[in-house]
Amino acid sequence: MPVSLGTAKAAAGKLVYGTYDLVEHPTGGCDRLPVIIAQGSARGPVFWLTAGIHGNEHAGLQVLHLLIPRELARKLRGTIVCIPALNPAGLRTMKREAYYHHGDPNRLFPDGKARDPHDPDLEPPSVLEAAYSRLFEEMRSTANYWIDLHNTWTGSVSMVYRDRVYYRDQGTPAQIKAARLEAENLDRQIGEICEAYGHSVVNEMGCSGYFDDKLHRSTTGAAVNVARIPALTMELGTGHMPDPKIVQACRTGLVNVLKWAGMLEGNHEAITGITVVKPGYACRRRGTPRVSVPCIVRHLVEPGDLVKQGDPIAEVRDIWGRPIAEKVLKSDTDGWIMGRTHGIVHYPGTEVTGMGVPDDLPTVLPYPAGYCPGSAQARAER
Ligand SMILES: [Zn+2]
Repeated sequence: MPVSLGTAKAAAGKLVYGTYDLVEHPTGGCDRLPVIIAQGSARGPVFWLTAGIHGNEHAGLQVLHLLIPRELARKLRGTIVCIPALNPAGLRTMKREAYYHHGDPNRLFPDGKARDPHDPDLEPPSVLEAAYSRLFEEMRSTANYWIDLHNTWTGSVSMVYRDRVYYRDQGTPAQIKAARLEAENLDRQIGEICEAYGHSVVNEMGCSGYFDDKLHRSTTGAAVNVARIPALTMELGTGHMPDPKIVQACRTGLVNVLKWAGMLEGNHEAITGITVVKPGYACRRRGTPRVSVPCIVRHLVEPGDLVKQGDPIAEVRDIWGRPIAEKVLKSDTDGWIMGRTHGIVHYPGTEVTGMGVPDDLPTVLPYPAGYCPGSAQARAER
């Protein structure tokens, strides 16, 4: 199967290594992405596995080094395209961002809207945005599936962020029905991958939070909602010093997913050694509860804890140690603690934990007005 990326060209039964030119430096030379392609002798799907778009999130790099040993290609049906470091500048400097793009690198993938490249009033895309657009087209032309590996907060639970699938509800009733069916089929595959992976699952935020935060322009948001490719973001606990148990459990989960995709033989392996939260209801992620005053907090919960509305989450004190304002910050909802957000010193309005909260929204929804990729309306409202 002729799959290639940059200088890496797939060869049946082999692992091949290469690079993909990302950003050319004004000082000469270039940032290149490391590329590994593993191809089995038998035909099968093409699975993209990537990590490190946030340069201070290092667990995914270790997972991919463990997952892609030399013997993998001999057992594989189909092809794995692996990029273990999507943001080399961030990785070198141990920063979330690349120094040549100010802003989150995981909000730069195409949203499907047409842009006028000749409008002098519009700022052109940064070199990184332009590079990721090129890479996205490479992914779109070869991938059947994509998993992108990340980290959340120190000590946070290993979990999956599941994008909702949006569809175009414009046109004739038959066109709308067909679009909805296509979205439901994509969503079903995404759900099956979550099940096969076997870690905790949270749905992405509701419609307004998702689009306001430009999550539809993340790696997997764009894969799902522009390229219509089943894709998931895996969050692997602490980023700067990976937890070996989560790294191992992610590797096991990915092997389960490759088995689900028909790319490896064998039975599903149990996920062990990590916290897997199954609260019995669907959850979406939310930063909550939030402090109301400038303060110092002491958390009263651990990642993975199930909580009820009204349960204590953190003590709230001033810098001298005196209890202030709400004194004890309580949960405003049932749910579970995904992790404690970084730091104990907060300004008002800051969340002290990330929680999985009950999610009564469907996982398949119409695009909100102005966001439908490629539509005249989207172009007009840009
Ligand atoms: Zn990340």
